[in-house]
Amino acid sequence: MNAKDCCDILTQAGIRPTSTRILVYEAIAEEKNTFSLGDLEERLPSIDKSGLFRTLTLFHDHRLIHSVDDGSGSLKYCFCHNHGNCREEEEHCHFYCEECRKTYCLDQDLIPHVDLPEGFIPRKINYIVKGICANCAKRKHL
Ligand SMILES: [Zn+2]
Ligand SMILES: [Zn+2]
Ligand SMILES: [Zn+2]
Repeated sequence: MNAKDCCDILTQAGIRPTSTRILVYEAIAEEKNTFSLGDLEERLPSIDKSGLFRTLTLFHDHRLIHSVDDGSGSLKYCFCHNHGNCREEEEHCHFYCEECRKTYCLDQDLIPHVDLPEGFIPRKINYIVKGICANCAKRKHL
């Protein structure tokens, strides 16, 4: 994705496209799977951590990225390919590898619908499959 596309998507999402925001959006558009604040810090050393955090929070508020609590203790994010038009039920499932501790996006698998009892208000759905990823399984000859 080039800077122009990033700029358009940010503008459409109602975000003022500053150079930092474009830089961050370009970087995360290349991520196939989830990333943490720390991962992004390593990739974009020119941006300070609080600036990165504010940018991610802004993107998250505008639904340009998803957040995933994979149980590892640090919040992970992933890029939304619907560019801000994702609804909760269009979010996908994730796979957490207990060997390499990577969290993969299962883009094709949407979170199944859950019928909540009357009066219950959902705030956040995490659908995580835990196990061993294909790379680790091969490495361990499973
Ligand atoms: Zn999405
Ligand atoms: Zn793995
Ligand atoms: Zn994902």
